[in-house]
Amino acid sequence: MSKFDMLIVGSGFAGAVMARKVADQGKRVLIVEKRAQIGGNMYECFDEAGIRIHLYGPHIFHTNNQEVFDFLKQYSEFYPYEHKVLGRIDGKLVPIPFNFTSLEMLFEKEKADKIKEKLKEAYPEQEKVSILDLIKNEDSWIKEFGEFVFEKVFVHYTAKQWGIPIEEVDQSTINRVPVVLGYDDRYFKDSIQYMPKDGFTKLFENMLDSDKIEIKLNKNITEMLRLDFETKKVYVEEEEFTGPIIFTGAVDELLDFKYGRLPYRSLDLVFENYPKTYYQTNSVVNYPNEEEFTRITEFKYLTNQEKEGTTSILKEYPLKYDGNNKKCLDPYYPIINGENLNMYEQYKKEVEQFTNIHLVGRLAEYKYYNMDAVVARALEVSKEFLK
Ligand code: FAD
Ligand code: UDP
Repeated sequence: MSKFDMLIVGSGFAGAVMARKVADQGKRVLIVEKRAQIGGNMYECFDEAGIRIHLYGPHIFHTNNQEVFDFLKQYSEFYPYEHKVLGRIDGKLVPIPFNFTSLEMLFEKEKADKIKEKLKEAYPEQEKVSILDLIKNEDSWIKEFGEFVFEKVFVHYTAKQWGIPIEEVDQSTINRVPVVLGYDDRYFKDSIQYMPKDGFTKLFENMLDSDKIEIKLNKNITEMLRLDFETKKVYVEEEEFTGPIIFTGAVDELLDFKYGRLPYRSLDLVFENYPKTYYQTNSVVNYPNEEEFTRITEFKYLTNQEKEGTTSILKEYPLKYDGNNKKCLDPYYPIINGENLNMYEQYKKEVEQFTNIHLVGRLAEYKYYNMDAVVARALEVSKEFLK
């Protein structure tokens, strides 16, 4: 271990960005990754039909952070891609986030016109509004409209996704998907919306291509790492390691679940292939009120691939995370509430006793980060080290 200046646990965006920034300064980095491949949840591969799929769920890049995009562009070409989602409501496929087109498709013209007028009056300068604001509005037209959207788009999808009633889900999660006060039918409103030309795995391969970076796959760090709570020293394969350790995995696992298991939501990801050119009309269709899955992704739209007579899709069935159940081996979504954040804080405090261990990323920080936020965070942390 003495030949390395830094140890990084995990090769998702948090680990890979840190590794690259540090390696560019001439430092030697060891990445330990428990999966058989790099990229964390961004990993893509080709399925049997030769279609590039996102193995850990659909991933779309969008950001307002130019520094993040400039950094990533060094490792891949990107093409413009504006993500659009349809939701199946009352037998119709309408734009999600719910917008004026969705409204016109589901309401009689006269009623739709009246609701649009009321919304424009109530929120004159806004392009979007939270569903949680709409249902609190005192105007009966707006409130009734809000309750319709709440019920048809949010209540049942959220119950499926999180396994708890919508009232118990953190408001910031619900507010990720607004109601749009206009005809913009893009899922994201960020100023930068692109996808990597040859996919995320290729981007990661390029990012980690450095003679200063060594990667050990199929290795859980818990098999190599020992924390001595008396001396506050860290041992890697029984050799003391004093260099920085960037940990991007789940922090409860690092500390052997001593305060209990941090709850996560997982997904049973069911991939299917069909002998036809397309399965649906666009990349993602949400099923708020029917089916046990939440959404269907058709990869050819998402990854800009053309192939006659074959197409691959993904259905996402939400599940409670349970490391012992084969269907939900991966912790995907931290479940944000007071109790869980308290448990997380206990873990964090414990780790902070070891001054060379740093927690970075969606799992390690127990935050519902999008990929651009993880890249931004890793860039920021790497600046601290390179000062
Ligand atoms: P991860 O990608 O989870 O990487 C952590 C790595 O650490 C993993 O490779 C893991 O195997 C490894 N590891 C963990 N524990 C250990 C250990 N003990 N020993 C060794 N290795 C270990 N973001 C967007 O911006 N747009 C999207 O469209 C989008 N869609 C998403 C869809 C789904 C279904 C999910 C779950 C997330 C989505 N995200 C999206 C979020 C995005 O995936 C994350 O922000 C990003 O991938 C997090 O990167 P990370 O490095 O923090 O974590
Ligand atoms: N959501 C919903 N209906 C939808 C889409 C989203 O109720 O049709 C809610 C749901 O609670 C979900 C949250 O909004 O967990 C965030 O959705 P997003 O698409 O951002 O989730 P992700 O892509 O991260 O799974």
